[in-house]
Amino acid sequence: MTTSSSPSAVSADNGWFTEVFDAEGSAFSLKVKQKLESVQSEFQTIDMYDTESYGKLMVIDGCTMVSSRENFVYHEMMSHVALFSHPNPKQVAIIGGGDCGTLREVLKHPGVENVTQIDIDEMVTRMAEKYFPELCESNADPRADIRFDDGIKWVKDCAPESLDIIIIDSTDPVGPAEGLFAVDFYRDCFNALREGGIVVQQSESPLYHSDTIIKNIHLDMATAGASSSHTFQFPQVIYPSGWWSCTLACKGGDATAFRVEDAAEKTFRTEYYNAEIHAAGIALPEFMKRSLGIE
Ligand code: SAM
Repeated sequence: MTTSSSPSAVSADNGWFTEVFDAEGSAFSLKVKQKLESVQSEFQTIDMYDTESYGKLMVIDGCTMVSSRENFVYHEMMSHVALFSHPNPKQVAIIGGGDCGTLREVLKHPGVENVTQIDIDEMVTRMAEKYFPELCESNADPRADIRFDDGIKWVKDCAPESLDIIIIDSTDPVGPAEGLFAVDFYRDCFNALREGGIVVQQSESPLYHSDTIIKNIHLDMATAGASSSHTFQFPQVIYPSGWWSCTLACKGGDATAFRVEDAAEKTFRTEYYNAEIHAAGIALPEFMKRSLGIE
């Protein structure tokens, strides 16, 4: 994962995979056992590594995406925070998310009736099936509808008021994902949501992007019709700064309200998410409050 302002450089020739975040003068490295595969799809380059201590690693266009060891934090926060914030989510869409980890988490909610996942790049899902079978273990669930298309177009064509939650599990705001961080796309999302619906966007690093990407997501969501929005932070070892976030925006509700008792008595296993983590994730550091204009 990197940003439009910090193009990454990658070297794996000395036994280490390194993603350099030029704009931040920092880098992230993993010791590599071997490079497993490299494919060039119509949209991006996908590299797969076997690492010494993080298991398999997927890298898209030089940016770390998923590793076996730590992906649970991101996938659980991208899914369960929104699903326990909505009063009764039944119809869910995932835009991006081709590694299928978020899809697996959403399908753990017994009340969910169907989940449509729309990733632009089928090759990401084929690589995930091969190297992260555990993330794809729910792909055959009859409630799952896995499609390959441009998520921007799919949401634009969506029937009005047909969805409860839209999860934007995208790459960074460059290339095919640029339009997923835009007010026109958010407007289409709110049009596709029923009253009480929620959009959740992966919103990059609190340390690096509070004044820029995160602030703009809140402004753009408000312009697009959000009644309330809130950013949740969580650790994310393999992404720039090791600290990541998702931002919830509501159509008619409060983004900090959630079904506390249901979350505390959830009927499925998680590795990171629980009701206390959800409540704690609502708290924001002082510098973020200042960036986002929260008193
Ligand atoms: N967990 C990752 C992270 O934050 O680094 C993100 C997940 S990765 C699977 C994001 C996915 O978004 C990629 O598979 C990519 O193909 C997809 N994507 C990018 N632009 C898209 C678009 N316009 N429509 C649908 N999917 C898109």
